[in-house]
Amino acid sequence: MNLSAMELSSEQLQAVLISAKSICVLTGAGVSQESGVPTFRGPGGLWRQYRPEDLAAPEAFERNPLLVWEWYAWRRELIQRAQPNAAHLGLVKIEETVTGRDGQFTLLTQNVDGLHERAGSRNVIRLHGSIWQLRCASCAEEREDYSVPLAPFPPRCSCASLMRPGVVWFGEPLPEDSWQKAADAAAACQVFLVIGTSALVYPAASLPLLGKRNGARVVEINPDSTSVSEIADIAVQSKAAEAFSALARFDRQKERA
Ligand SMILES: [Zn+2]
Repeated sequence: MNLSAMELSSEQLQAVLISAKSICVLTGAGVSQESGVPTFRGPGGLWRQYRPEDLAAPEAFERNPLLVWEWYAWRRELIQRAQPNAAHLGLVKIEETVTGRDGQFTLLTQNVDGLHERAGSRNVIRLHGSIWQLRCASCAEEREDYSVPLAPFPPRCSCASLMRPGVVWFGEPLPEDSWQKAADAAAACQVFLVIGTSALVYPAASLPLLGKRNGARVVEINPDSTSVSEIADIAVQSKAAEAFSALARFDRQKERA
């Protein structure tokens, strides 16, 4: 079933979200983009002349760590200025509602910007790590660092080696612990909500299907048709923030009624 953003403010989707005892959500770049965080996808998706694949890779860091760090420093600055949007805030509300009646809510995100946490989401699994996490390129040292700009730059570990961004790069596996928790949540949920992700990047893309195979209703919110649309029980063709604004309006109407 395909619905527009206006039709989304219907009893039906509300009912799906409200009646579920367990909800799993997968978010992607589209949600961040609506807060002004660039996605580096499609035309204009370059930084200087580089593609993300040329920078977000272990080989790129070995070749030119300063260049890679300049890219991340620029992104950290943009993200620090960005604000969570209606989709981030709407997910906080859903989490409060679901956990308030002893249900399970798990937010799986491919975004590394931390905007979900800043909005107030609690049970967040970061599939691709965090841009605010620094990890030593040589030893096991890790730390969170929210400073913009970073000093010294590029950042160094107490062992004197360079720190690298604590994100998952092209060709690297997802953190095993996060992945296992994500797969467990996907397999156990009643509703799997997919928002703002083209679901092209595996293995994260396999999570909605895992939910579906285990009996979850799959709901997608995305302005474009994706591979998830084919398995979705409800596909809402809308930007995430618009969809959540419509849901919030519906909430207020109900409160008044
Ligand atoms: Zn170290």
